[in-house]
Amino acid sequence: MSPVSARLLSGKEAAAAVEAEVASRVAALAARGKGVGLATVLVGEDPASQVYVRAKHRAAARVGMKSFDHALPAGSRATDLAALLDRLNVDLEVDGILLQMPLPRGLDPLPFLERIDPAKDADGLHPVNLGRLMLGRPGLRPATPAGILRLLDHYEVETRGAFVVVVGRSFLVGRPLAILLGLKGRDATVALAHTGTRDLPDLTRLADVLVAAVGRPGLIGPQHVRPGATVVDVGVNRTESGLVGDVDFAAVAEVAGAITPVPGGVGPMTIAGLLENTVTAAEQHSAG
Ligand code: NAP
Repeated sequence: MSPVSARLLSGKEAAAAVEAEVASRVAALAARGKGVGLATVLVGEDPASQVYVRAKHRAAARVGMKSFDHALPAGSRATDLAALLDRLNVDLEVDGILLQMPLPRGLDPLPFLERIDPAKDADGLHPVNLGRLMLGRPGLRPATPAGILRLLDHYEVETRGAFVVVVGRSFLVGRPLAILLGLKGRDATVALAHTGTRDLPDLTRLADVLVAAVGRPGLIGPQHVRPGATVVDVGVNRTESGLVGDVDFAAVAEVAGAITPVPGGVGPMTIAGLLENTVTAAEQHSAG
């Protein structure tokens, strides 16, 4: 394998720092008699989703949160899922609710994301929270984009004045990340690329920070990267050679200044973002 010259941006290391902060906030609430609870909801038996949900429960335990594991069979009706979310919305032990994506084919996620109480929206994907994000007002932020910002901050990657290209415009990652980066205070200049983008390498080669959130193994090669740029790989793709991102890691690491690995990059930061939202929600519940 070629030598890696880029600095490795470890999500594991950055997530540990976020977890330490979250744990002290959880402990402060516990000292006032307020426990913090995260409920996960998994529909179906997708093995990758089961792995993610287990990782979220382990992380919750590490920071002193209680967690509640709800699993519904793949053939569940929309009314069963809606009834479970309604119960969790009024459960005083539950501060954050996470609906694991993707839902089985045939269940549109949007009505369920909207059904979650916005004050318990651990993944920050309720339209009220996305609306607050759009307005630049405080709110629970989408966990993956928020985690990416925490990762950049941890490694002191400057976004102010930087040109950032985000490839992929899903409502889960790319679009909210582009909005967050462009907010006052964060001050990046952002381009959002997608399948309609002409000459992707010409655009991405202008980026100081390049984020790939696509779901196509190896889409981003060295020809897409300006020497010295920071490359954040959000993609998680299961291939015959194991778990890989959207970035051809070995080749890009020779050109980039800094790069996130897959696994161990954005994944742990998403969980950190989820824990941070849950403790923020608990603080607001205890205050109100
Ligand atoms: P998604 O909803 O499928 O969106 C993919 C986006 O990529 C779309 O906007 C699509 O463009 C764009 N795209 C596809 N092919 C492209 C190409 N050749 N050139 C430029 N753009 C292209 O995916 P997602 O939910 O955002 O997830 C993206 C990846 O991130 C997946 O691998 C997912 O597993 C991973 N992920 C990881 C984490 C984590 O914690 N590490 C969290 C969430 C997601 P159009 O809009 O034009 O179709």
